[in-house]
Amino acid sequence: MNKRKFIKCSIFGAFYFSLTPINLSFAETKKIINKNLTEAQKKIMFDEKTERPYSSPLNYEKREGFYHCANCDAKLFKSNSKFDSGTGWPSFTEALPGAFKTKVDYSFGMKRTEYHCANCGAHHGHVFDDGPGKSGKRYCNNGLCLIFKPAT
Ligand SMILES: [Zn+2]
Repeated sequence: MNKRKFIKCSIFGAFYFSLTPINLSFAETKKIINKNLTEAQKKIMFDEKTERPYSSPLNYEKREGFYHCANCDAKLFKSNSKFDSGTGWPSFTEALPGAFKTKVDYSFGMKRTEYHCANCGAHHGHVFDDGPGKSGKRYCNNGLCLIFKPAT
């Protein structure tokens, strides 16, 4: 290896390793709280997989109430922020304040903003800037990560 190549590799190496602790610390904040989560739920919430579109009954949920984290029960969305995006996933124009944290996700060759529960770290979905509401946001959420609790 010539000197120039070595320097390039070293710079890349330093860059790579400087990123690693961030990913690790994110992974460490994720914790399974609900021991009854199914394998499908765990794959999405802790492995950032995505459920099949149109597979969630919550696509058709229209009652008033709140959507909670299926892992830790934190309140995430109010029913009045839900809308039919036509994507096949439950979609919301805004989350409750402080409900989520985000990170940039470069998987599948796309730059997307991933969001996860601020309380337990479980992955929920991706947020896009093409929403119909005042916020302009579209939270595209896996239905399996949510528990709907109707208002009483
Ligand atoms: Zn949670």
